[in-house]
Amino acid sequence: MYNARAYAAGSATARLASTTIARRTPTETDVQIEVLYCGVCHSDLHQVRNEWSSVMPTVYPCVPGHEILGRVTRVGAGVKKFKAGDLAAVGCLVDSDGTCPECKAGLEQFCHNATLTYNAPDKHTGGVTYGGYSESVVVEERFVLRVPEHLNPAGAAPLLCAGITTYSPMRHWEVGKGKKVGVVGLGGLGHMGVKFAHALGAHVVVFTTSPAKKEDALRLGADEVVISRHAGEMARHAGSFDFILDAVSAHHDVNAYINLLRRDGNLTLVGAPETPLAVPAFGLIMGRRSLSGSPIGGIAETQEMLDFCGMHNITADVEVIPIQKINEAYERMLKQDVKYRFSIDMASLKAE
Ligand code: NAP
Ligand code: ZN
Repeated sequence: MYNARAYAAGSATARLASTTIARRTPTETDVQIEVLYCGVCHSDLHQVRNEWSSVMPTVYPCVPGHEILGRVTRVGAGVKKFKAGDLAAVGCLVDSDGTCPECKAGLEQFCHNATLTYNAPDKHTGGVTYGGYSESVVVEERFVLRVPEHLNPAGAAPLLCAGITTYSPMRHWEVGKGKKVGVVGLGGLGHMGVKFAHALGAHVVVFTTSPAKKEDALRLGADEVVISRHAGEMARHAGSFDFILDAVSAHHDVNAYINLLRRDGNLTLVGAPETPLAVPAFGLIMGRRSLSGSPIGGIAETQEMLDFCGMHNITADVEVIPIQKINEAYERMLKQDVKYRFSIDMASLKAE
């Protein structure tokens, strides 16, 4: 074991603050990574504040962060794909059993024995896993990704969650040319969804509650922008969408979007509000529409997404912050005051 500097929350109401955590010494199959940038996901905020207490209660101290990009500093003797000095990334998963049908299908995100990057039982330490708001991470090689070197590293970090979470359902539901696709909520996830849907060739409509984001939405790749609080604008799109990605972090009227689906259209929830959403049966029955959800993505698909981003030069639009601004960043995220992802420059942790 060794000590690593990190930022942690001590309780659901505490501010995140500097601390020291114990990391395992890399085993035979581990990769040790110096974290250069870590994206700030709304899930970090939900988890730190224990807003998902009924599903994933938070264990404190909690070190969040699952959009991790860094340089390999050390590898175990059995590691084949990485060497010291390589650029490497880690997303929301750090382990799975590797033997169940889900793992064999490359869908580790559905493995019942998968280990999340933070706030999950850590089989090595006997404690809980700690995320990327830290100077280093130690991760099993199987869960370490390659990042195209030419991508901006601060903007590439958010691909590890916001990227894969929006890319995966779009691939599953065959977003592409000739499809009309909606993206609800232009935040960290939503703005990646717009970039992917556009790059995949779809006709993209952004639904936002923030009129000030209209110009940005068009710049990011939207063909149309609808201010969702305007009933008239919403009504114009009734029954017309093949696919809608809902990336809203708070309670909202999901039926308003189900009604915009055409026959056999699908709405996929990736946003995970604290409270249940009401779904009237007739919105789905009429039109044989479907409502589904989607969690992150498997490791092979995450690599595919990173390679796709390399080819199309896609990264997140980020505001780089020092770790000392993390509490303020959470408040600003709640006020929609970020374009469109905070990315922490982890070199700032050295000042602690
Ligand atoms: P974010 O950057 O805060 O974006 C959320 C967006 O939702 C906002 O920008 C805003 O967009 C919209 N919004 C916020 N409050 C709203 C309200 N009261 N009514 C209507 N719209 C509202 O968050 P994020 O990091 O993209 O994450 C979004 C959600 O996805 C979170 O719940 C997060 O936990 C979840 N998530 C899920 C997965 C998964 O695997 N499924 C992975 C990562 C994150 P406008 O200003 O455009 O309206
Ligand atoms: Zn996330």
